[in-house]
Amino acid sequence: PADHDGVPSDYSIQVTGRNTIYSNEFIESKYIYEMNHCEIDHQTKQVKIIPRKYQYNFRTKRQVQRTGVMLVGWGGNNGSTVTGAIIANRDQITWMRKEGEQYPNYYGSLTQSTTIRLGSNNEGKEVHIPFNTILPMLHPNDIVIGGWDINEANLYEAMERACVFDYALQEKLKSKMLQLKPLPSIYYSDFIAANQEDRANNLISKGTKQNDLEHIRNDIRTFKKIHNLEQVIILWTANTERYVDVLSGLNTTGEELLQSIANNEDEISPSNIFACAAILENCPYINGSPQNTLVPGIIDLAEKNHVFIGGDDFKSGQTKLKSVLVDFLVSAGLKLQSIVSYNHLGNNDGKNLSAPQQFRSKEISKSNVVDDMVGANHLLYNKKINEHPDHVVVIKYVPFVKDSKRAMDEYISSIFMNGLNTIVIHNTCEDSLLASPLIIDLVILTELMTRITYTTNDNDQYQTFESVLSILSYLLKAPMVPSGTPVINALFKQHRCITNILSACAGIAMDTDMLLEHKTK
Ligand code: NAD
Repeated sequence: PADHDGVPSDYSIQVTGRNTIYSNEFIESKYIYEMNHCEIDHQTKQVKIIPRKYQYNFRTKRQVQRTGVMLVGWGGNNGSTVTGAIIANRDQITWMRKEGEQYPNYYGSLTQSTTIRLGSNNEGKEVHIPFNTILPMLHPNDIVIGGWDINEANLYEAMERACVFDYALQEKLKSKMLQLKPLPSIYYSDFIAANQEDRANNLISKGTKQNDLEHIRNDIRTFKKIHNLEQVIILWTANTERYVDVLSGLNTTGEELLQSIANNEDEISPSNIFACAAILENCPYINGSPQNTLVPGIIDLAEKNHVFIGGDDFKSGQTKLKSVLVDFLVSAGLKLQSIVSYNHLGNNDGKNLSAPQQFRSKEISKSNVVDDMVGANHLLYNKKINEHPDHVVVIKYVPFVKDSKRAMDEYISSIFMNGLNTIVIHNTCEDSLLASPLIIDLVILTELMTRITYTTNDNDQYQTFESVLSILSYLLKAPMVPSGTPVINALFKQHRCITNILSACAGIAMDTDMLLEHKTK
Protein backbone atom coordinates (compact mmCIF):
# COMPACT_ATOMS: atom_id res chain seq x y z
CA PRO A 1 0.00 0.00 0.00
CA ALA A 2 1.10 3.53 -0.82
CA ASP A 3 1.23 4.75 2.76
CA HIS A 4 3.99 2.35 3.81
CA ASP A 5 7.68 2.34 3.06
CA GLY A 6 9.56 -0.89 3.73
CA VAL A 7 13.30 -0.75 4.19
CA PRO A 8 15.28 -3.66 2.65
CA SER A 9 17.23 -6.02 4.93
CA ASP A 10 20.65 -4.88 3.74
CA TYR A 11 20.12 -1.28 4.84
CA SER A 12 21.43 -0.07 8.17
CA ILE A 13 19.96 2.57 10.39
CA GLN A 14 21.67 5.61 11.78
CA VAL A 15 20.20 7.83 14.45
CA THR A 16 21.16 11.48 14.30
CA GLY A 17 20.96 13.35 17.57
CA ARG A 18 23.04 13.73 20.67
CA ASN A 19 21.60 10.78 22.52
CA THR A 20 23.08 8.16 20.21
CA ILE A 21 26.82 7.84 19.71
CA TYR A 22 28.42 5.42 17.28
CA SER A 23 32.00 4.28 17.68
CA ASN A 24 33.78 1.45 15.91
CA GLU A 25 33.09 -0.81 18.81
CA PHE A 26 29.77 0.37 20.29
CA ILE A 27 26.40 1.94 19.77
CA GLU A 28 25.75 4.02 22.87
CA SER A 29 22.44 5.56 23.74
CA LYS A 30 21.21 7.75 26.54
CA TYR A 31 17.70 6.92 27.53
CA ILE A 32 15.39 8.47 30.09
CA TYR A 33 13.03 5.87 31.45
CA GLU A 34 9.89 7.52 32.78
CA MET A 35 7.53 5.62 35.03
CA ASN A 36 4.70 6.32 37.42
CA HIS A 37 5.19 5.52 41.06
CA CYS A 38 1.78 5.09 42.66
CA GLU A 39 0.70 5.50 46.26
CA ILE A 40 -2.78 4.41 47.19
CA ASP A 41 -4.36 6.06 50.22
CA HIS A 42 -7.39 4.05 51.24
CA GLN A 43 -8.52 6.62 53.79
CA THR A 44 -8.81 9.52 51.38
CA LYS A 45 -9.53 7.12 48.50
CA GLN A 46 -6.90 8.72 46.35
CA VAL A 47 -4.11 7.43 44.19
CA LYS A 48 -1.11 9.68 44.18
CA ILE A 49 0.99 9.41 41.03
CA ILE A 50 4.58 10.41 41.38
CA PRO A 51 6.37 10.62 38.03
CA ARG A 52 9.89 9.21 38.21
CA LYS A 53 12.71 9.44 35.73
CA TYR A 54 15.71 7.17 35.48
CA GLN A 55 18.66 7.78 33.25
CA TYR A 56 20.18 4.77 31.47
CA ASN A 57 23.20 4.69 29.21
CA PHE A 58 23.01 1.61 27.03
CA ARG A 59 26.03 0.29 25.23
CA THR A 60 25.73 -2.38 22.53
CA LYS A 61 28.80 -4.03 21.07
CA ARG A 62 28.49 -3.80 17.30
CA GLN A 63 30.48 -6.90 16.45
CA VAL A 64 28.23 -9.96 16.41
CA GLN A 65 29.96 -12.95 17.99
CA ARG A 66 30.67 -16.18 16.17
CA THR A 67 27.95 -18.17 17.85
CA GLY A 68 27.04 -21.80 18.21
CA VAL A 69 24.06 -23.44 19.79
CA MET A 70 24.23 -26.86 21.40
CA LEU A 71 20.81 -28.46 21.48
CA VAL A 72 20.03 -31.02 24.13
CA GLY A 73 17.74 -33.38 22.20
CA TRP A 74 19.32 -32.52 18.84
CA GLY A 75 17.89 -35.65 17.23
CA GLY A 76 14.32 -34.77 18.15
CA ASN A 77 11.67 -33.27 15.91
CA ASN A 78 12.57 -29.70 16.82
CA GLY A 79 16.30 -30.35 16.71
CA SER A 80 16.26 -31.95 13.27
CA THR A 81 13.76 -29.44 11.87
CA VAL A 82 15.68 -26.35 12.96
CA THR A 83 18.92 -27.86 11.67
CA GLY A 84 17.50 -28.81 8.27
CA ALA A 85 15.78 -25.44 7.92
CA ILE A 86 18.96 -23.50 8.59
CA ILE A 87 20.91 -25.60 6.09
CA ALA A 88 18.16 -25.15 3.49
CA ASN A 89 18.12 -21.38 4.02
CA ARG A 90 21.90 -21.09 4.11
CA ASP A 91 22.40 -23.15 0.95
CA GLN A 92 19.25 -21.81 -0.74
CA ILE A 93 17.94 -25.30 -1.29
CA THR A 94 14.66 -25.43 -3.18
CA TRP A 95 12.47 -28.48 -3.60
CA MET A 96 9.45 -29.65 -5.54
CA ARG A 97 6.06 -30.69 -4.32
CA LYS A 98 2.70 -30.89 -6.00
CA GLU A 99 2.15 -27.15 -5.67
CA GLY A 100 5.44 -26.43 -7.47
CA GLU A 101 8.91 -25.27 -6.46
CA GLN A 102 9.32 -24.36 -2.80
CA TYR A 103 11.81 -21.87 -1.35
CA PRO A 104 13.10 -21.96 2.21
CA ASN A 105 12.12 -19.11 4.55
CA TYR A 106 12.22 -18.01 8.15
CA TYR A 107 8.49 -17.45 8.62
CA GLY A 108 7.48 -17.48 12.26
CA SER A 109 10.73 -15.91 13.39
CA LEU A 110 10.33 -12.58 15.15
CA THR A 111 13.85 -11.50 14.30
CA GLN A 112 13.80 -12.61 10.64
CA SER A 113 10.26 -12.14 9.43
CA THR A 114 8.81 -9.15 11.26
CA THR A 115 9.28 -5.42 11.01
CA ILE A 116 9.36 -2.53 13.44
CA ARG A 117 7.64 0.76 12.66
CA LEU A 118 10.19 3.52 13.03
CA GLY A 119 8.26 6.64 12.16
CA SER A 120 7.21 8.43 9.02
CA ASN A 121 9.00 10.04 6.09
CA ASN A 122 8.55 13.35 4.24
CA GLU A 123 5.42 12.17 2.47
CA GLY A 124 3.88 11.03 5.73
CA LYS A 125 4.38 7.36 4.81
CA GLU A 126 5.05 5.00 7.67
CA VAL A 127 8.57 3.55 7.58
CA HIS A 128 9.15 -0.05 8.67
CA ILE A 129 12.53 -1.68 9.15
CA PRO A 130 13.26 -5.39 9.37
CA PHE A 131 13.42 -6.35 13.05
CA ASN A 132 17.01 -7.52 12.72
CA THR A 133 18.27 -4.11 11.57
CA ILE A 134 17.38 -2.23 14.75
CA LEU A 135 20.66 -3.39 16.32
CA PRO A 136 23.40 -5.62 14.92
CA MET A 137 22.13 -9.19 15.19
CA LEU A 138 23.38 -12.66 14.47
CA HIS A 139 21.98 -14.13 11.25
CA PRO A 140 20.48 -17.62 11.61
CA ASN A 141 22.47 -18.84 8.59
CA ASP A 142 25.62 -18.19 10.63
CA ILE A 143 24.59 -20.22 13.69
CA VAL A 144 26.76 -23.29 14.18
CA ILE A 145 24.58 -26.14 15.46
CA GLY A 146 25.60 -29.13 17.50
CA GLY A 147 24.36 -31.01 20.51
CA TRP A 148 23.49 -34.19 22.29
CA ASP A 149 20.85 -36.89 22.07
CA ILE A 150 20.28 -40.09 23.98
CA ASN A 151 19.41 -41.66 20.63
CA GLU A 152 22.15 -42.51 18.16
CA ALA A 153 20.29 -41.53 14.96
CA ASN A 154 22.15 -39.11 12.75
CA LEU A 155 20.34 -35.94 11.76
CA TYR A 156 19.15 -37.40 8.46
CA GLU A 157 17.55 -40.35 10.22
CA ALA A 158 16.16 -37.96 12.82
CA MET A 159 14.63 -35.75 10.13
CA GLU A 160 13.13 -38.77 8.39
CA ARG A 161 11.68 -40.05 11.67
CA ALA A 162 10.21 -36.62 12.43
CA CYS A 163 7.97 -36.66 9.32
CA VAL A 164 7.99 -32.86 9.20
CA PHE A 165 9.69 -31.91 5.91
CA ASP A 166 8.49 -32.88 2.47
CA TYR A 167 10.22 -35.99 1.14
CA ALA A 168 11.91 -34.05 -1.68
CA LEU A 169 13.44 -31.63 0.81
CA GLN A 170 14.66 -34.50 2.96
CA GLU A 171 16.39 -35.99 -0.07
CA LYS A 172 18.08 -32.69 -0.86
CA LEU A 173 19.28 -32.30 2.72
CA LYS A 174 20.36 -35.92 3.02
CA SER A 175 24.07 -35.67 2.27
CA LYS A 176 24.55 -32.81 4.75
CA MET A 177 22.33 -34.14 7.50
CA LEU A 178 23.91 -37.62 7.36
CA GLN A 179 27.18 -36.16 8.55
CA LEU A 180 25.69 -34.66 11.69
CA LYS A 181 25.61 -36.91 14.69
CA PRO A 182 24.51 -36.04 18.21
CA LEU A 183 26.99 -36.46 21.04
CA PRO A 184 26.15 -39.15 23.61
CA SER A 185 24.05 -37.79 26.44
CA ILE A 186 22.92 -38.37 30.01
CA TYR A 187 19.94 -40.58 30.75
CA TYR A 188 18.54 -41.01 34.25
CA SER A 189 15.49 -43.15 33.61
CA ASP A 190 13.48 -41.60 36.40
CA PHE A 191 12.99 -38.21 34.70
CA ILE A 192 11.46 -38.75 31.25
CA ALA A 193 8.67 -41.20 30.51
CA ALA A 194 9.45 -44.91 30.74
CA ASN A 195 8.22 -45.22 27.13
CA GLN A 196 11.42 -43.44 26.00
CA GLU A 197 13.73 -46.13 27.28
CA ASP A 198 14.23 -47.88 23.94
CA ARG A 199 15.52 -44.60 22.49
CA ALA A 200 18.37 -44.45 24.98
CA ASN A 201 21.21 -46.01 22.99
CA ASN A 202 23.68 -43.12 22.81
CA LEU A 203 24.81 -42.57 26.36
CA ILE A 204 28.00 -41.44 28.00
CA SER A 205 29.49 -44.26 30.01
CA LYS A 206 27.84 -44.76 33.32
CA GLY A 207 29.57 -42.99 36.17
CA THR A 208 28.69 -40.48 38.82
CA LYS A 209 26.70 -37.29 38.28
CA GLN A 210 29.89 -35.38 38.93
CA ASN A 211 31.50 -37.25 36.03
CA ASP A 212 28.48 -36.44 33.86
CA LEU A 213 28.85 -32.76 34.68
CA GLU A 214 32.55 -32.79 33.79
CA HIS A 215 31.81 -34.71 30.60
CA ILE A 216 29.22 -32.19 29.41
CA ARG A 217 31.46 -29.26 30.33
CA ASN A 218 34.20 -30.84 28.30
CA ASP A 219 31.84 -31.31 25.32
CA ILE A 220 31.00 -27.61 25.43
CA ARG A 221 34.66 -26.58 25.54
CA THR A 222 35.51 -28.90 22.66
CA PHE A 223 32.61 -27.63 20.52
CA LYS A 224 33.65 -24.05 21.16
CA LYS A 225 37.22 -24.80 20.25
CA ILE A 226 36.75 -26.87 17.12
CA HIS A 227 34.32 -24.37 15.63
CA ASN A 228 36.34 -21.39 16.83
CA LEU A 229 33.33 -19.80 18.54
CA GLU A 230 33.13 -16.78 20.77
CA GLN A 231 29.72 -17.62 22.19
CA VAL A 232 27.94 -20.91 22.80
CA ILE A 233 24.33 -21.13 23.91
CA ILE A 234 22.95 -24.33 25.40
CA LEU A 235 19.26 -24.95 24.69
CA TRP A 236 17.12 -27.78 26.02
CA THR A 237 14.76 -29.16 23.41
CA ALA A 238 14.90 -32.72 24.71
CA ASN A 239 11.94 -34.55 26.18
CA THR A 240 9.91 -33.02 28.94
CA GLU A 241 11.13 -34.25 32.30
CA ARG A 242 9.11 -34.57 35.47
CA TYR A 243 9.45 -31.82 38.04
CA VAL A 244 12.29 -32.14 40.53
CA ASP A 245 11.69 -31.54 44.22
CA VAL A 246 12.96 -28.21 45.46
CA LEU A 247 14.32 -28.73 48.95
CA SER A 248 16.57 -26.85 51.25
CA GLY A 249 19.89 -28.68 51.38
CA LEU A 250 19.33 -30.10 47.88
CA ASN A 251 19.07 -27.34 45.28
CA THR A 252 18.05 -24.01 46.75
CA THR A 253 21.48 -22.38 46.41
CA GLY A 254 24.29 -22.78 43.92
CA GLU A 255 26.47 -24.33 46.59
CA GLU A 256 23.83 -26.88 47.56
CA LEU A 257 23.35 -27.79 43.94
CA LEU A 258 27.04 -28.39 43.29
CA GLN A 259 27.26 -30.39 46.51
CA SER A 260 24.22 -32.48 45.54
CA ILE A 261 25.83 -33.28 42.19
CA ALA A 262 29.02 -34.27 44.01
CA ASN A 263 26.90 -36.46 46.32
CA ASN A 264 25.23 -38.13 43.33
CA GLU A 265 21.78 -37.18 44.67
CA ASP A 266 18.88 -38.97 42.95
CA GLU A 267 16.86 -35.78 42.62
CA ILE A 268 19.40 -34.11 40.29
CA SER A 269 17.95 -34.38 36.78
CA PRO A 270 19.79 -34.54 33.45
CA SER A 271 18.59 -31.01 32.65
CA ASN A 272 20.00 -29.80 35.99
CA ILE A 273 23.37 -31.18 34.91
CA PHE A 274 23.19 -29.47 31.50
CA ALA A 275 22.16 -26.13 33.01
CA CYS A 276 24.90 -26.35 35.59
CA ALA A 277 27.52 -27.30 32.98
CA ALA A 278 26.44 -24.39 30.77
CA ILE A 279 26.68 -21.87 33.60
CA LEU A 280 30.07 -23.13 34.76
CA GLU A 281 31.28 -22.81 31.15
CA ASN A 282 29.93 -19.26 30.97
CA CYS A 283 27.30 -20.21 28.40
CA PRO A 284 23.70 -18.99 28.50
CA TYR A 285 21.18 -21.78 29.12
CA ILE A 286 17.63 -21.77 27.74
CA ASN A 287 14.96 -24.26 28.76
CA GLY A 288 12.53 -24.97 25.90
CA SER A 289 10.56 -27.56 27.88
CA PRO A 290 8.22 -27.12 30.82
CA GLN A 291 10.08 -28.87 33.64
CA ASN A 292 11.48 -26.84 36.54
CA THR A 293 15.16 -27.25 35.62
CA LEU A 294 15.85 -23.70 36.67
CA VAL A 295 15.50 -24.37 40.40
CA PRO A 296 16.62 -21.66 42.85
CA GLY A 297 20.08 -23.25 43.03
CA ILE A 298 20.54 -22.92 39.26
CA ILE A 299 19.34 -19.31 39.34
CA ASP A 300 21.72 -18.55 42.18
CA LEU A 301 24.60 -20.17 40.31
CA ALA A 302 23.77 -18.18 37.15
CA GLU A 303 23.60 -14.91 39.08
CA LYS A 304 26.89 -15.55 40.84
CA ASN A 305 28.58 -16.40 37.55
CA HIS A 306 26.86 -13.56 35.63
CA VAL A 307 25.46 -15.96 33.05
CA PHE A 308 22.06 -15.63 31.37
CA ILE A 309 19.35 -18.22 31.78
CA GLY A 310 15.88 -18.28 30.24
CA GLY A 311 12.79 -20.47 30.20
CA ASP A 312 10.43 -22.22 30.36
CA ASP A 313 8.76 -24.03 27.46
CA PHE A 314 8.51 -22.67 23.91
CA LYS A 315 5.35 -20.63 23.37
CA SER A 316 4.48 -21.96 19.96
CA GLY A 317 0.85 -22.55 19.06
CA GLN A 318 -2.11 -22.94 21.33
CA THR A 319 -0.63 -20.91 24.15
CA LYS A 320 0.47 -18.13 21.84
CA LEU A 321 -3.08 -17.78 20.59
CA LYS A 322 -4.42 -18.05 24.12
CA SER A 323 -2.21 -15.23 25.29
CA VAL A 324 -3.68 -13.04 22.55
CA LEU A 325 -7.30 -14.11 22.85
CA VAL A 326 -7.52 -13.84 26.62
CA ASP A 327 -5.87 -10.42 26.49
CA PHE A 328 -8.44 -9.38 23.89
CA LEU A 329 -11.43 -10.69 25.86
CA VAL A 330 -10.43 -9.31 29.23
CA SER A 331 -9.30 -5.97 27.86
CA ALA A 332 -12.58 -5.71 25.94
CA GLY A 333 -14.36 -5.97 29.29
CA LEU A 334 -15.73 -9.44 28.65
CA LYS A 335 -15.60 -11.84 31.56
CA LEU A 336 -13.92 -14.99 30.41
CA GLN A 337 -15.35 -17.80 32.54
CA SER A 338 -13.97 -21.02 31.13
CA ILE A 339 -11.14 -22.14 28.91
CA VAL A 340 -10.83 -25.76 27.90
CA SER A 341 -7.89 -26.75 25.71
CA TYR A 342 -7.59 -30.15 24.10
CA ASN A 343 -4.47 -31.20 22.22
CA HIS A 344 -3.68 -34.34 20.41
CA LEU A 345 -0.41 -35.09 18.76
CA GLY A 346 1.39 -38.14 17.49
CA ASN A 347 5.07 -37.31 17.70
CA ASN A 348 7.55 -38.51 20.28
CA ASP A 349 6.82 -35.46 22.43
CA GLY A 350 3.20 -36.61 22.58
CA LYS A 351 4.30 -40.12 23.48
CA ASN A 352 6.44 -38.82 26.32
CA LEU A 353 3.65 -36.53 27.52
CA SER A 354 1.26 -39.47 27.71
CA ALA A 355 2.94 -40.39 31.00
CA PRO A 356 1.33 -38.67 34.01
CA GLN A 357 4.38 -36.99 35.55
CA GLN A 358 5.57 -35.53 32.27
CA PHE A 359 2.04 -34.42 31.39
CA ARG A 360 1.90 -32.72 34.79
CA SER A 361 4.95 -30.56 33.88
CA LYS A 362 3.19 -29.45 30.69
CA GLU A 363 -0.10 -28.91 32.47
CA ILE A 364 1.52 -26.55 34.96
CA SER A 365 3.27 -24.53 32.27
CA LYS A 366 0.08 -24.25 30.21
CA SER A 367 -2.09 -23.33 33.18
CA ASN A 368 -0.69 -20.05 34.41
CA VAL A 369 -0.74 -18.23 31.11
CA VAL A 370 -3.87 -16.21 31.78
CA ASP A 371 -3.07 -15.10 35.33
CA ASP A 372 -1.59 -11.70 34.53
CA MET A 373 -4.43 -10.73 32.21
CA VAL A 374 -7.11 -11.83 34.65
CA GLY A 375 -5.22 -10.25 37.56
CA ALA A 376 -5.08 -6.92 35.75
CA ASN A 377 -8.88 -6.51 35.74
CA HIS A 378 -10.32 -6.41 39.25
CA LEU A 379 -13.59 -5.04 37.87
CA LEU A 380 -14.33 -8.40 36.29
CA TYR A 381 -12.63 -10.73 38.75
CA ASN A 382 -13.03 -10.35 42.51
CA LYS A 383 -9.56 -10.33 43.99
CA LYS A 384 -10.80 -11.05 47.52
CA ILE A 385 -12.00 -14.50 46.57
CA ASN A 386 -9.23 -15.04 43.99
CA GLU A 387 -11.81 -15.31 41.25
CA HIS A 388 -10.48 -16.59 37.93
CA PRO A 389 -11.74 -18.53 34.92
CA ASP A 390 -11.90 -22.32 34.97
CA HIS A 391 -8.96 -23.53 32.93
CA VAL A 392 -8.51 -27.16 31.91
CA VAL A 393 -5.81 -28.63 29.69
CA VAL A 394 -5.99 -32.09 28.10
CA ILE A 395 -3.25 -33.71 26.01
CA LYS A 396 -3.68 -37.03 24.21
CA TYR A 397 -1.25 -39.11 22.18
CA VAL A 398 -2.61 -40.06 18.75
CA PRO A 399 0.28 -41.57 16.76
CA PHE A 400 -1.41 -41.23 13.35
CA VAL A 401 -1.28 -37.42 13.29
CA LYS A 402 2.49 -37.46 13.92
CA ASP A 403 3.96 -33.96 14.26
CA SER A 404 0.77 -32.38 12.96
CA LYS A 405 -0.66 -31.33 16.26
CA ARG A 406 -4.31 -30.53 16.78
CA ALA A 407 -5.32 -27.96 19.32
CA MET A 408 -8.97 -27.37 20.11
CA ASP A 409 -10.02 -24.66 22.48
CA GLU A 410 -13.32 -23.46 23.83
CA TYR A 411 -13.57 -20.04 25.45
CA ILE A 412 -16.81 -19.08 27.22
CA SER A 413 -17.30 -15.51 28.38
CA SER A 414 -20.05 -13.64 30.16
CA ILE A 415 -20.95 -10.63 28.08
CA PHE A 416 -23.30 -7.64 28.41
CA MET A 417 -26.24 -8.30 30.76
CA ASN A 418 -25.07 -11.86 31.41
CA GLY A 419 -25.31 -13.19 27.91
CA LEU A 420 -22.81 -15.87 27.01
CA ASN A 421 -20.30 -15.90 24.20
CA THR A 422 -18.59 -19.11 23.15
CA ILE A 423 -15.57 -19.13 20.85
CA VAL A 424 -14.26 -22.42 19.51
CA ILE A 425 -10.93 -22.76 17.76
CA HIS A 426 -9.44 -25.67 15.87
CA ASN A 427 -5.79 -25.32 15.06
CA THR A 428 -3.77 -27.81 13.00
CA CYS A 429 -0.09 -27.37 12.42
CA GLU A 430 3.25 -29.15 12.40
CA ASP A 431 4.45 -28.52 15.90
CA SER A 432 8.13 -28.40 15.01
CA LEU A 433 7.54 -25.79 12.33
CA LEU A 434 6.23 -23.54 15.08
CA ALA A 435 8.93 -24.29 17.63
CA SER A 436 11.97 -24.13 15.32
CA PRO A 437 11.79 -20.38 14.54
CA LEU A 438 11.46 -19.77 18.28
CA ILE A 439 14.72 -21.66 18.84
CA ILE A 440 16.35 -19.36 16.28
CA ASP A 441 14.97 -16.22 17.95
CA LEU A 442 15.98 -17.40 21.41
CA VAL A 443 19.56 -17.87 20.22
CA ILE A 444 19.69 -14.55 18.36
CA LEU A 445 18.18 -12.47 21.16
CA THR A 446 20.28 -14.16 23.83
CA GLU A 447 23.46 -13.54 21.84
CA LEU A 448 22.42 -9.89 21.48
CA MET A 449 21.79 -9.56 25.22
CA THR A 450 25.35 -10.69 25.93
CA ARG A 451 26.56 -7.63 23.98
CA ILE A 452 24.41 -5.07 25.81
CA THR A 453 25.54 -3.37 29.01
CA TYR A 454 24.32 -0.25 30.77
CA THR A 455 25.10 2.31 33.42
CA THR A 456 22.62 4.28 35.50
CA ASN A 457 22.75 7.51 37.47
CA ASP A 458 23.47 5.52 40.61
CA ASN A 459 26.06 3.21 39.13
CA ASP A 460 28.57 4.21 36.50
CA GLN A 461 30.03 0.71 36.18
CA TYR A 462 28.80 -1.03 33.03
CA GLN A 463 26.71 -4.02 33.97
CA THR A 464 24.66 -6.65 32.19
CA PHE A 465 20.91 -7.22 32.49
CA GLU A 466 19.58 -9.56 35.21
CA SER A 467 20.68 -13.17 34.76
CA VAL A 468 17.10 -14.34 34.30
CA LEU A 469 16.34 -13.07 30.81
CA SER A 470 12.69 -12.05 31.14
CA ILE A 471 12.99 -10.18 27.82
CA LEU A 472 12.59 -13.61 26.19
CA SER A 473 9.04 -13.92 27.59
CA TYR A 474 7.46 -13.50 24.14
CA LEU A 475 8.97 -16.82 23.12
CA LEU A 476 8.16 -18.80 26.25
CA LYS A 477 5.01 -20.31 27.66
CA ALA A 478 5.84 -19.96 31.36
CA PRO A 479 8.32 -17.09 31.36
CA MET A 480 10.94 -17.02 34.07
CA VAL A 481 11.50 -13.59 35.57
CA PRO A 482 13.87 -12.32 38.24
CA SER A 483 12.53 -13.05 41.69
CA GLY A 484 9.88 -10.60 42.86
CA THR A 485 9.18 -9.17 39.41
CA PRO A 486 5.93 -9.51 37.45
CA VAL A 487 5.37 -12.29 34.92
CA ILE A 488 3.87 -11.03 31.68
CA ASN A 489 2.07 -13.49 29.43
CA ALA A 490 0.06 -11.12 27.22
CA LEU A 491 1.67 -11.54 23.81
CA PHE A 492 1.70 -7.97 22.58
CA LYS A 493 3.00 -6.63 25.87
CA GLN A 494 5.81 -9.14 25.56
CA HIS A 495 6.38 -8.02 22.00
CA ARG A 496 6.49 -4.33 22.92
CA CYS A 497 8.86 -5.12 25.75
CA ILE A 498 11.39 -6.47 23.25
CA THR A 499 10.95 -3.81 20.58
CA ASN A 500 10.99 -1.00 23.16
CA ILE A 501 14.12 -2.21 24.93
CA LEU A 502 15.90 -2.65 21.62
CA SER A 503 14.68 0.80 20.50
CA ALA A 504 16.04 2.31 23.72
CA CYS A 505 19.40 0.62 23.12
CA ALA A 506 19.45 1.92 19.55
CA GLY A 507 18.52 5.43 20.72
CA ILE A 508 15.24 5.43 18.79
CA ALA A 509 12.11 6.99 20.25
CA MET A 510 9.76 4.11 20.83
CA ASP A 511 6.54 3.63 18.96
CA THR A 512 3.73 4.76 21.26
CA ASP A 513 1.03 4.15 18.63
CA MET A 514 -0.32 7.63 19.32
CA LEU A 515 0.39 8.92 15.78
CA LEU A 516 -0.17 12.41 17.09
CA GLU A 517 1.33 13.81 13.92
CA HIS A 518 -1.78 12.62 12.11
CA LYS A 519 -4.26 13.69 14.75
CA THR A 520 -3.17 17.18 15.69
CA LYS A 521 -3.00 20.31 13.55
P1 NAD B 1 11.15 -35.12 20.47
O1 NAD B 1 10.72 -36.19 21.40
O2 NAD B 1 11.01 -35.33 19.02
O3 NAD B 1 12.68 -34.74 20.74
C1 NAD B 1 13.28 -34.82 21.97
C2 NAD B 1 14.64 -35.49 21.81
O4 NAD B 1 15.30 -35.45 23.06
C3 NAD B 1 14.56 -36.94 21.40
O5 NAD B 1 15.34 -37.15 20.24
C4 NAD B 1 15.15 -37.70 22.60
O6 NAD B 1 15.86 -38.83 22.21
C5 NAD B 1 16.03 -36.64 23.21
N1 NAD B 1 16.35 -36.74 24.64
C6 NAD B 1 15.58 -37.11 25.68
N2 NAD B 1 16.26 -37.01 26.83
C7 NAD B 1 17.49 -36.55 26.53
C8 NAD B 1 18.64 -36.23 27.28
N3 NAD B 1 18.68 -36.38 28.59
N4 NAD B 1 19.73 -35.77 26.62
C9 NAD B 1 19.72 -35.60 25.28
N5 NAD B 1 18.66 -35.92 24.52
C10 NAD B 1 17.56 -36.37 25.14
O7 NAD B 1 10.36 -33.81 20.95
P2 NAD B 1 10.18 -32.41 20.20
O8 NAD B 1 8.89 -32.43 19.49
O9 NAD B 1 11.41 -32.07 19.45
O10 NAD B 1 10.02 -31.45 21.46
C11 NAD B 1 11.12 -31.24 22.30
C12 NAD B 1 10.70 -30.55 23.58
O11 NAD B 1 10.20 -29.26 23.26
C13 NAD B 1 9.62 -31.28 24.34
O12 NAD B 1 9.89 -31.25 25.72
C14 NAD B 1 8.41 -30.45 24.07
O13 NAD B 1 7.45 -30.52 25.10
C15 NAD B 1 9.01 -29.07 23.98
N6 NAD B 1 8.13 -28.14 23.29
C16 NAD B 1 7.82 -28.33 21.96
C17 NAD B 1 6.97 -27.43 21.33
C18 NAD B 1 6.62 -27.55 19.88
O14 NAD B 1 5.84 -26.80 19.37
N7 NAD B 1 7.21 -28.44 19.14
C19 NAD B 1 6.42 -26.39 22.05
C20 NAD B 1 6.75 -26.23 23.38
C21 NAD B 1 7.62 -27.11 23.98
